[in-house]
Amino acid sequence: MSEADTENTEAPRDFIREVVHGDVQAGLTESVVTRFPPEPNGHLHIGHAKSMCLNFGIADEFGGRCHLRFDDTNPAKEEHEYIESIQDDVRWLGFDWGEHLYFASGHFETLYAWAEHLIGAGKAYVDDLSAEEIRAHRGTLTEAGRDSPHRDRPPDENLELFRRMRAGEFEDGARVLRAKIDMASGNINMRDPVLYRILRAPHPRTGEDWCIYPTYDFAHGQSDAIEGVTHSLCTLEFEDHRPLYDWLIDNLAVPSRPRQYEFSRLNLTHTVLSKRRLVELVDGGHVRGWDDPRMPTLSGLRRRGFPAAAIRDFAGRIGVTKSDSVVEVALLEHCARDLLNRTAPRRMAVLDPLKVVIENYPQGEAEELEAVNNPEDAAAGTRSVPFSREIYIERQDFMEDPPKKFFRLAPGREVRLRYAFFITCTGVVKDAAGDVVELRCTYDPETRGGNAPDGRKVKATLHWVSGAHAVSAEVRLYDHLFTEAEPGGDLGAALNPGSLTVLDDCRLEPALADTAAGETVQFERLGYFCPDADSGPGKLVFNRTVALRDTWAKVKAKGGAKA
Ligand code: ATP
Ligand code: MG
Repeated sequence: MSEADTENTEAPRDFIREVVHGDVQAGLTESVVTRFPPEPNGHLHIGHAKSMCLNFGIADEFGGRCHLRFDDTNPAKEEHEYIESIQDDVRWLGFDWGEHLYFASGHFETLYAWAEHLIGAGKAYVDDLSAEEIRAHRGTLTEAGRDSPHRDRPPDENLELFRRMRAGEFEDGARVLRAKIDMASGNINMRDPVLYRILRAPHPRTGEDWCIYPTYDFAHGQSDAIEGVTHSLCTLEFEDHRPLYDWLIDNLAVPSRPRQYEFSRLNLTHTVLSKRRLVELVDGGHVRGWDDPRMPTLSGLRRRGFPAAAIRDFAGRIGVTKSDSVVEVALLEHCARDLLNRTAPRRMAVLDPLKVVIENYPQGEAEELEAVNNPEDAAAGTRSVPFSREIYIERQDFMEDPPKKFFRLAPGREVRLRYAFFITCTGVVKDAAGDVVELRCTYDPETRGGNAPDGRKVKATLHWVSGAHAVSAEVRLYDHLFTEAEPGGDLGAALNPGSLTVLDDCRLEPALADTAAGETVQFERLGYFCPDADSGPGKLVFNRTVALRDTWAKVKAKGGAKA
């Protein structure tokens, strides 16, 4: 065994890596080139993250490169905004295309020349049938298609018509260029597919230069070939298009021959992963926009506080296969929790405040207590948290008449305030309606730091914030966007009415006012939270990324784990 052989003894993680590995070993591929090819017709979602992790991941592992290419062949649906946001999202996820940013529109002249070449070779023709007539001629899975009456136009005539299409002499939709392959093929994609259509729509990059546009099917494989892509990785729905891509490559003088491999799309429970369906949610006003923290878009997940590394970890765990499956969203949440547990600074925040007056604590005074920033990471150090006579605790941490298993605060009972003191509840103040509005407590100064010198124990430790020092905030809690695991049909009707809860009277420890944008912290006992973009001068808004309770652990325990 040579040195090189011993270096990487790990078996490839999935069938695509196995193929690439084999190609490299066999000397078929000198340098691995992959690409991530979004259509700029919407924002990226977690499904795209799977594709990016695969394409950029393989390029990285095999010492090759991964291109970012916009497949911008449909100006009717494409916008500049998407081109910008997609690049931001790719970078945010941690990937870098270096100099290799491409646009299918950048290849338009070459594609046009190749179309003329096909015409000259008698392998493409201009068809005057309408889109509807073409559909009617195409046949079905069980029935062969019928030839267009224009199928046997001589090449010269086709060439002249095609040039006139480009020159703008015909109305939108009046004519198309079709490949001349086989109207009886068992594969409908091979029944003389459309290569070019007339469409007058300003293109985000080529403006008014063109009034004919190549179809995705014509542009995609050729763009791969022009860019020297060696492994063209796409989702299963393109499997049936591969024979067409191969036919085009065989019949054109392309500079390289990409090989296409298909894998299954990511589907996630309690959400939808298709730009078209996500557009419905935005346009229907069901969410607050593309980056609504309930959306499975990368901008939504980022706003919600999901770290990019957690999403990459998720992509690694779900793997790459050819079988369709639906992954539990709880796994994604588990990945976030797993990472944040190790990295997120701990803070204290009270979401539903109940005032507590510590009667034996001197009025007007305050002290600083030392709090651990992250018990999982000693290097994160400590911070000081102010303590004073009036504090807030969580309303649900008190019960006037507690059942047996409630160990938190109750009249006459002693509990620990985290990092602070033991307190004992001595009285309850109620309003006219009989609701508890304030608690009266005493504290034991001997228990500073949270331990009693006499060794006595308490059954509960509560989080709290000092009333005089707290900052106010709005906190938004999120739940699944859809009640059903696999929503379909009328999305509006399938929405979870409780997907957003807004708490507008929360009190946070003062350090939280300085949380950086993009930082996710743990509110002790409550979950992981990050500042929302709606925060501004005098207004703090936090989003809950995930609660602390791990529903994935439960799913697994029940034997329901799918990944
Ligand atoms: P959508 O249905 O959401 O519009 P799309 O496939 O049309 O998805 P593209 O912009 O064409 O979106 O996708 C860019 C790349 O991302 C393609 O290679 C596509 O196969 C891949 N991709 C899109 N959705 C998923 C998904 N759910 N899982 C894995 N890969 C995906
Ligand atoms: Mg698409």
